[in-house]
Amino acid sequence: TDTKPFVALCPETLPQRLGGLAALIEKLGENQGSWRVKEVGDGNLNLVFIVEGERGKVIVKQALPYVRLVGESWPLPLKRSYFEYHALMRQSDRDPGMVPEIFHFDVDQAIIVMEFLSPHIILRRALIEGQRLPRIGRDLGLFAARTLFRGSDLAMTARERKQDLALFSDNVELCDITENLVFSDPYFEASLNRHTSPQLDGIVAELRADRDLKVEAQKLKHLFATKAETLLHGDLHTGSVMVTMDETRVIDPEFAFYGPIAFDVGMMIANFWMSYFSQAGHEQNGNREAMRDYLLNVIETIWATFCEEFSDLWRSERNGILYQRSLFEDRGDLLGAEQALDHVLHEIWTDMLGFAGVEIHRRILGLAHNADFETIADLDLRARCECKALKLGRHLAVNRRHIHSLAEINSLAKRLE
Ligand code: ADP
Ligand code: MG
Ligand code: MG
Ligand code: MG
Repeated sequence: TDTKPFVALCPETLPQRLGGLAALIEKLGENQGSWRVKEVGDGNLNLVFIVEGERGKVIVKQALPYVRLVGESWPLPLKRSYFEYHALMRQSDRDPGMVPEIFHFDVDQAIIVMEFLSPHIILRRALIEGQRLPRIGRDLGLFAARTLFRGSDLAMTARERKQDLALFSDNVELCDITENLVFSDPYFEASLNRHTSPQLDGIVAELRADRDLKVEAQKLKHLFATKAETLLHGDLHTGSVMVTMDETRVIDPEFAFYGPIAFDVGMMIANFWMSYFSQAGHEQNGNREAMRDYLLNVIETIWATFCEEFSDLWRSERNGILYQRSLFEDRGDLLGAEQALDHVLHEIWTDMLGFAGVEIHRRILGLAHNADFETIADLDLRARCECKALKLGRHLAVNRRHIHSLAEINSLAKRLE
């Protein structure tokens, strides 16, 4: 079959280019002349359009052959769209209802047409506004446990699992971004780095001279690069979650790759600690004391829910090649299965803390900053918030093997605050 060369969409050409697709006609109506198109992408990498027709709206997401945040000087392959599509399909099987419904995928044009989530807003925005959403802790804990358990050797047959590993192993360039941006660049004077300067210059120099921290960051990178344990979302931060008061959805899994279970969990939780430390910068319309308590509570709920659901799945869906029932339950050794579960969860706990620590660092020292801190206009105030987060991040990364509870970390966070 002929493949047309890649051409980026724009609002003017989109109706004519996609107007013949049955999936779009069904959602929007036939009269493509009346479709209204708006580019809304606020991410670092891709084009995102809202397309509105007589019948409804859809989202059209298209990859570009370069990093949008940086420009054409940093090429990035279109195939990330293929990995995003396949990850969305798996996540929708593994935790139904938690990702947008997919209506159409065009591999050559790197286009995914999906459900328009409305009135959902990006979770990071909601947290900056001080919204206390009641469901996110539980929903995100369940999403992590279900997708990470069900994509692993604990649940899948050997053949399925290895085919999946092979499919996602080609997402090299996005992995490379994570490997450099998260685990290495923050710890030396990499050219794309930036930080709030001069306010943070002192602590940044200290962190870059911190041998224990650098070694630990490389151990975490080693884990990320080699522990192909499950299909990760790969970019599971609060900017990849859309929410209403009664719904939580996860978007944007283009970084999907086989890696350690703890990576997604740690990245997610880190973003709540950053939100916690950023609250002092958003107190113009009232203090955020209740918001701070809420955020620490969400972290505890995510982790408790993750452990509870992971344990339930361990007991009910452990049908893969690891810790087979034939060794344990089938021989009446219930305790053996529970002991192994404890060990697995303990390792996830320890590694999750480390991944959280480096995620905090890279959002303040690296290329990709987050709006929680960036929207604090007063740079002295911003730097004070960031400095506390950096200290917590260092503590988590270096001392992760000696930390026993979230209560311990959260009380440290309160004392830093
Ligand atoms: P990128 O990969 O460039 O970060 P995202 O998938 O995160 O792109 O999408 C960028 C923005 O587009 C999101 O922050 C959100 O505001 C909007 N968006 C993306 N997908 C949807 C969707 N299904 N429904 C509504 N808005 C969406
Ligand atoms: Mg995004
Ligand atoms: Mg993305
Ligand atoms: Mg211990």
